[in-house]
Amino acid sequence: MMNSRRDFLQKLTASAIAIPFLSSANAWDQPVNLVRNPDGPVLRVALMGLGGYASIVAKAMQDCKRAKITGLISGTPSKLSEWGTKYNVPEKSRYNYENFDDIKNNPDIDVVYVTTPNALHHDQVIRVARAGKHAISEKPMALNAKEGQEMVDACSEAGVKLLVGYRMHFEPKTLEVIRMRNADEFGKILFFQGLSGFRIGDPNQWRLNKALAGGGSLMDIGIYSINGARYMVNEEPIWVTAQETKTDTVKFKEGVDETIQFQLGFPSGAVASCLSTYNMNYLDRFFLNGEKGFAELQPSTGYGPIKGRTNKGALTQPHVTHQTLQMDAMAGIILDGDSPVVAVDGAEGVKDLKIIDAIYAACASGKRHELNL
Ligand code: NAD
Repeated sequence: MMNSRRDFLQKLTASAIAIPFLSSANAWDQPVNLVRNPDGPVLRVALMGLGGYASIVAKAMQDCKRAKITGLISGTPSKLSEWGTKYNVPEKSRYNYENFDDIKNNPDIDVVYVTTPNALHHDQVIRVARAGKHAISEKPMALNAKEGQEMVDACSEAGVKLLVGYRMHFEPKTLEVIRMRNADEFGKILFFQGLSGFRIGDPNQWRLNKALAGGGSLMDIGIYSINGARYMVNEEPIWVTAQETKTDTVKFKEGVDETIQFQLGFPSGAVASCLSTYNMNYLDRFFLNGEKGFAELQPSTGYGPIKGRTNKGALTQPHVTHQTLQMDAMAGIILDGDSPVVAVDGAEGVKDLKIIDAIYAACASGKRHELNL
């Protein structure tokens, strides 16, 4: 049906995300206030690493109420001029990887959004912090928990904020499941299943290069099940077990995981069972089970629309481009001191990295590893 409510909402929200009635109680039962303070100050964002994901973020930011692109950092001069023209970023706010420390003298930039390959986030975020600017790092925030903690420390020493690009933390259907769980509508949580994977193409891409990616599917896509297990169960895991399988040792070299299954145990006794893979399509599913009910999301973490239902029926919250919601919410976090329902700060990123470290260790040892988050 062309004129379904979802189509209508998608069109409407593309042009006007701060729809006041969406935050009122009777607005089609929508509990999510999409932009909390739409008339607040605008977050001025420099994008670093003008690749695939930066393109998605840049496009989505065109619909933001509270965030705009005011700087660009790239090693490719032609990208700087193309993006500069397209997004109206003047030459004085375009930088390369040698000179971007000069952003410290640029009053038009509040925060740098780092969307380079995983291995580069650590040093780049620390340089951004030392230039006195806030930082948003893409996931995974770093290659391991030690690096992640160094980033947190550098940002706190510099007095700047560090956020991680966990866009699902602002997604309306995800937030509705979290609201229902917090209202005890599923009862005591017993089990979570997370399936995260896709079949990866080009064998020469950085995602399959251990030095740049830090690992394989777990760093890139399995992290969604790790993070999802935590925000769905609402506890921090205390142990992990994990098993790795590899069918293609040419494409997936030493240190680059193809498929990992892992299990997490939580203090309440709840358990999670998850799959991370670069070798299977149609794997994007969360299932949460409690004593009184369940929630399932499929797709659960793709760019959307997210779809799902609970024991009470279909989830009907509107789809809004995730990165638009994320950047408006991050403006509130950085400029107004908002606390999101699910944390997106550096400490949150380090917790996922501690679990990743433990999963790799458990794959290697075959033993259960205790966690202390
Ligand atoms: P990409 O390869 O499309 O883009 C990476 C960019 O970094 C390119 O422009 C590349 O030129 C630049 N770069 C700078 N230094 C480089 C170097 N030494 N080697 C290689 N490239 C270098 O990758 P992407 O898909 O945009 O991913 C970038 C980051 O964003 C990753 O950390 C990834 O995990 C994350 N990501 C997050 C999401 C999400 O939904 N949150 C989605 C996609 C990617």
